Amino acid sequence: MAAARTVLLTGSNRGIGLELVKQLLGSPRPPAWIFATCRDPEGPRAQELRDLASKHPNLVLVKLDVENPSAITDAAKVVEGKLNGMGLNLLINNAGIYTPTASLETVDAEDMVRTYKTNAVGPMLMAQAFLPLLKKAAQDSKEKGLSCSKAAIINMSTILGSIKKTADSFFHPVISYRCSKAALNMLTMCQALTYKEAGILCVALHPGWVKTDMGSQEADLTVDTSVRGLLSVLPILSEKHSGTLLNWEGKAIPW
Ligand code: NDP
Repeated sequence: MAAARTVLLTGSNRGIGLELVKQLLGSPRPPAWIFATCRDPEGPRAQELRDLASKHPNLVLVKLDVENPSAITDAAKVVEGKLNGMGLNLLINNAGIYTPTASLETVDAEDMVRTYKTNAVGPMLMAQAFLPLLKKAAQDSKEKGLSCSKAAIINMSTILGSIKKTADSFFHPVISYRCSKAALNMLTMCQALTYKEAGILCVALHPGWVKTDMGSQEADLTVDTSVRGLLSVLPILSEKHSGTLLNWEGKAIPW
């Protein structure tokens, strides 16, 4: 299965996003362009990304805060210019936030809205802004059906957003996070139904419980293992997976 030639990720300066960039760069057939977006590409939190960009001419750092609609459209213009007539094969909506202490007793309106804005509204605006480039990639592809090498939106979700699975992990309520990711799951289904005709695959992925700033060092998986898994799932995705939630091993999770 062919690999995506042009990829864009959000939240790529640390955690799962940064590891995705590293493993994509190190893959046997790296993308022609990787657009690694983050809130502050010039700041201290993006030092590792800048070091990588200085060694890899196919890695382009782009400023993008998913909470800011005009920053998203500005980034889409920068990427369009760089692609110079090419389309975007793969959009990975990875950026996310999490309030570990948000129980029903403590969660407030501000946390609910802020988390929804980043985790659900951000991916929706990203897909809207990058849709022309995704459509272009689909149109230019000779591949039949849907795939990540043709045109795809991957939304980084979580099993904690599955309504069916909530009782299994409710000892950890994280209300704002769960609700925002359940909304992201619904968004994924709506995108799959809407963008199918344009030839764009839409899938939500659960990376496992991963040792990052968000997942903490108590988590099950190293970021290396999770991302290796995620990157081996991408090439097997096809139309039958569009509008589903899968884990880092490619196993389906009920909504
Ligand atoms: P981290 O907290 O380690 O990293 C989060 C990333 O998102 C950072 O790059 C951060 O940038 C970025 N980000 C946050 N808000 C914004 C914003 N408004 N605009 C742009 N970027 C933003 O998280 P992980 O790497 O662990 O998580 C990545 C994704 O995987 C998330 O969507 C998360 O929900 C999901 N996930 C993670 C799990 C885990 O166990 N780790 C489990 C299940 C799902 P900055 O440095 O600027 O803050």
